[in-house]
Amino acid sequence: DVQALVAHQDDDGNIDLVHETVEESFLPDGDVEIAVEYSGVNFKDALAVTPKGGVARSYPLIPGIDLTGTVRSSTSPEFSAGDVVVAHGYDIGTGRHGGYADTARLPADMVVKLTGLSAKDAAAIGTAGFTAAMSVEALTAHGITPSDGPVLVTGATGGVGSVSVDLLAAAGFEVIASTGKSDATDLLRTLGATEIIGRLPEEGEKVRALGKTRWAAVVDCVGGTTLAYALSTLAYGGVVAASGLAGSADLPTTVHPFILRGVTLAGIDSVQLPIVNRRALWAKLEGELKPRHLDDVTTDVAVTALPKSIKTILSGGVTGRTRVIVAGE
Ligand code: NAP
Repeated sequence: DVQALVAHQDDDGNIDLVHETVEESFLPDGDVEIAVEYSGVNFKDALAVTPKGGVARSYPLIPGIDLTGTVRSSTSPEFSAGDVVVAHGYDIGTGRHGGYADTARLPADMVVKLTGLSAKDAAAIGTAGFTAAMSVEALTAHGITPSDGPVLVTGATGGVGSVSVDLLAAAGFEVIASTGKSDATDLLRTLGATEIIGRLPEEGEKVRALGKTRWAAVVDCVGGTTLAYALSTLAYGGVVAASGLAGSADLPTTVHPFILRGVTLAGIDSVQLPIVNRRALWAKLEGELKPRHLDDVTTDVAVTALPKSIKTILSGGVTGRTRVIVAGE
């Protein structure tokens, strides 16, 4: 039997999260059976249990877009019992059962073997930290170096934002952290932010077609007028790595930053990223890219406490990463 947190939808569209014992046959087939130890709470996990959240394909669903643990058995020669693994993205936790259960079964080509990170640390990184790493890689691939000037991180206390601040500071960048949380200064300084500012644009400030240039590059997970503002204030030849819509899915901008300042809008998608690239980036996260302050940004929550806490994240009220203890200590 499998212990799981299952999301059910009733006829009125309401979604309930229920702790259940389900049969093994509830899980899909898959080459790799994983004893899940940890999962996480990402913005997308909350959307998956929100009516009309636009993320879950059908119910009942075991949510949890991140999962880490140990291989119990594998029909693929790529994995052996005892391997420490992480899996996220594709349709995990949205279209196929995810991490909020003590067992997961996945195709081998959705699974990443870890040799330099524990299941616990990998879960602290999770989808959000992985997306932060993709964002930072996009800036460096564009040729941005610390000598080009400061890098803005929006939604800086969130999962993607906080790990981005940590990774950028470790790489020697001057990091300007934009946050709506007035009590986050100490945390953001610990992560390595050199300057901490409020959300952008400031209250009452208009987004102009071209504003005064303020940063060489931006990591943005907020979207909306924040992303429009970031584009209009980027230095000549700058780049924004855009991964999210925590503020809004709209993008009320003009072509001016693109055609007059040659700026680049780099889209970041961690979900459909091919497994080869996914494994290569996790290998970096196990080594030279390993975030230095995971413990400072991570809060643990038991899977049994999740129904209460999961939706808080949608209002921007969560700081850092939330790691879910499924069967770990
Ligand atoms: P999160 O932990 O909730 O972080 C989002 C942060 O954005 C919040 O902590 C808050 O930071 C800020 N924020 C929230 N609401 C806002 C608003 N209305 N206006 C301005 N800022 C606001 O979420 P996450 O898991 O890091 O995900 C962030 C976004 O990235 C989500 O949209 C998610 O879907 C997306 N995402 C995309 C990918 C991908 O592959 N493209 C992967 C992971 C996540 P402050 O309080 O510090 O301002």
